[in-house]
Amino acid sequence: MSNNLEIENNEKTRVVSEYYGENVFNDNIMRQRLPKSIYKSLKKSIDEAKPIDPGIADVVAATMKDWAIEKGATHYTHWFQPMTGITAEKHDSFISPQADGRIIMEFSGKELIKGEPDASSFPSGGLRATFEARGYTSWDCTSPAFYRDGTLYIPTAFYSYTGEVLDKKTPLLRSMDVLSNQAVRIVKLFGGNNVKRVITTVGAEQEYFLISQEMYKRRKDLVYTGRTLFGAIPPKGQEMEDHYFGTIKESVAAFMSELDEELWKLGVSSKTKHNEVAPSQHEMAPIFTSSNIATDHNQLVMDTLKKVAIRHKLICLLHEKPFAGVNGSGKHNNWSMGTDTGENLLEPGDTPNVNLRFLVFLAAVIKAVDVYQDILRASAANPGNDHRLGANEAPPAIISIFLGDQLSDILDQIEKTGIAKSIKESGEIKNLLSTLPSLPKDSTDRNRTSPFAFTGNKFEFRMVPSSSSIAGPNFVLNTAVAEVLREIADKLEKSKDVEADSYNIVRDIVKNHKRIIFNGNNYSDEWVKEAKSRGILNLKSLVEAIPTIIEKKNVELMVKHRILNEVELKSRFEIIMESYIKTVRIEALTMLKMTKRQFIPAGMKYIQVLSDGINSVKNTGLSVDTSVQADLLKKSSDLLVLINKNVVNLEKLVYEDHSTGDILSHGKYYKEKVMAEMSELRKNVDSLEVIVDHDLWPVPTYGQILYNVE
Ligand code: ADP
Ligand code: MG
Repeated sequence: MSNNLEIENNEKTRVVSEYYGENVFNDNIMRQRLPKSIYKSLKKSIDEAKPIDPGIADVVAATMKDWAIEKGATHYTHWFQPMTGITAEKHDSFISPQADGRIIMEFSGKELIKGEPDASSFPSGGLRATFEARGYTSWDCTSPAFYRDGTLYIPTAFYSYTGEVLDKKTPLLRSMDVLSNQAVRIVKLFGGNNVKRVITTVGAEQEYFLISQEMYKRRKDLVYTGRTLFGAIPPKGQEMEDHYFGTIKESVAAFMSELDEELWKLGVSSKTKHNEVAPSQHEMAPIFTSSNIATDHNQLVMDTLKKVAIRHKLICLLHEKPFAGVNGSGKHNNWSMGTDTGENLLEPGDTPNVNLRFLVFLAAVIKAVDVYQDILRASAANPGNDHRLGANEAPPAIISIFLGDQLSDILDQIEKTGIAKSIKESGEIKNLLSTLPSLPKDSTDRNRTSPFAFTGNKFEFRMVPSSSSIAGPNFVLNTAVAEVLREIADKLEKSKDVEADSYNIVRDIVKNHKRIIFNGNNYSDEWVKEAKSRGILNLKSLVEAIPTIIEKKNVELMVKHRILNEVELKSRFEIIMESYIKTVRIEALTMLKMTKRQFIPAGMKYIQVLSDGINSVKNTGLSVDTSVQADLLKKSSDLLVLINKNVVNLEKLVYEDHSTGDILSHGKYYKEKVMAEMSELRKNVDSLEVIVDHDLWPVPTYGQILYNVE
């Protein structure tokens, strides 16, 4: 014990720059440890997405193993991202027994490059029959290996015996290549002849709730489903707006600092931390990096959040809507495209009106988001997000783009006259403090309500669910933008006047796709009406959004760019629908259990207390008014009758499951029938909660959960 403490204390005194990335087999380590020619060959594969020379694998593997063993590793694992949305790992030790009874530690190139986990238990949506459940993992050298808890982790892609894609990483990596190929064509037309690759970059801001373990354990709904299925709104919610950016409580600060340390050791560049809008809600944001690494890092962030919370006797909730009536959690996917020479292609510069390369890339994003708004929306669908998007709470399920005044004005001018002569100046902030110089204003104010907002030199996709991998939204976005870039490059490469034709392309895109641009309040009812009149989709739920994955236009997009084939897309559609049905079913069963075993008995106890009270007053023979007790008794009894009816109905719905065999109607059944009864049941139980004696209520209330962490 004291030893551990000492180690901990030692670590505390180390400065961040000493331990940052110490558990990552990163470029620096590779350069130091690999023979020069092997390092160069590997580096070329990483930077240019070229196949690895199999001849170098043995040396790389042995070097990785030695490095990991020095850290304390005994095992290695192929770390992959199956369709469950979380990561999977199977640990194999390095030991290799020798004839004389001793062992040596071995790790071959073959083991580095390819693994074979038993894949039969991962969702495949009917892609593989279980009798041929061979699944393989293959090393993704573009995301560095790392050491954690005695194991060397190797990021890998996951696919089947017949080569079908079974994971989230493969389509993402492919979409990055596709976007790069198309973007490079355009960059070259604007003079960037030395650019070899364009990299999509992502910084994922992660929101989460922290609650006490003690409260968590007493709520079966949190334990089984990650969200509260019951709970009356506390007297104080978030209306005082005193939590956002508020002082961070000591226990939370201790948690956050350990979180940073753990992430920094893994090379995750955790940068920002603050309290979020809701009580007990917080956020962390890393510095952006390539989409692939950002996706792997976000998985590590979610994992580390949960692990570190437990060490602090806390529980981290990543669910999109753990508490009804209180802000939910999302992930803000900041996204841009940059060249391998270090230029951000979405950087407007000082004169965006004549920055033609910027305008072309901007226009490509606008068209892509408009044409593919359906699958973009689908890419942000998970069961939890259904309680946020379109469920009368922010943000809405409608995709639109915020550009701000300056860029909107420039595009306006181009639409009307073919060019943009002027820039709307934002001016300066003057005379704020006597000690402060005049400060230039940002070209645009924030619009926190937009699901897809331009924020200076990147777009922020704000619909992304907090608990899901960001791979889906990113591969969809990359592919959609790549397709429009391809169209543009096809035209411009044939053009005799690239400048004039670029303006024409931007002008056409603005004319045809400006409906998707909206700078106003996305949370207002007027927008819902206006979006409808503009013909923009409002896919309010997962079961409405997910079928768009297999619509002709979208299948064509994915097939054309070899991201996923039609069979793989159908399987994804099925996997998501199945997981939705299972999620709702588990929630319904949890509600039934809690109601029957906890809430109905609590209600009955209260009725007993009330009737005993009335009787004992009567027994005194005094003429005392018992109308309060009688009133409560009647209300409680009436509610129990309703609750009991809900239970009977809900049981019927889930046990006599009217599935027709068609997965979409099955999903709709759960959404329309099962969820409707669940919400009736909840309403009645929540009404009971507010009249039953607090001491008799069997689970912690919202107030107790949300205001418990000190
Ligand atoms: P803001 O104040 O606009 O939110 P920040 O600089 O705090 O800007 O960025 C928020 C997130 O966006 C961070 O994770 C940051 O790393 C990321 N980000 C910044 N620039 C880019 C970029 N070019 N590509 C992708 N993400 C970016
Ligand atoms: Mg943000």
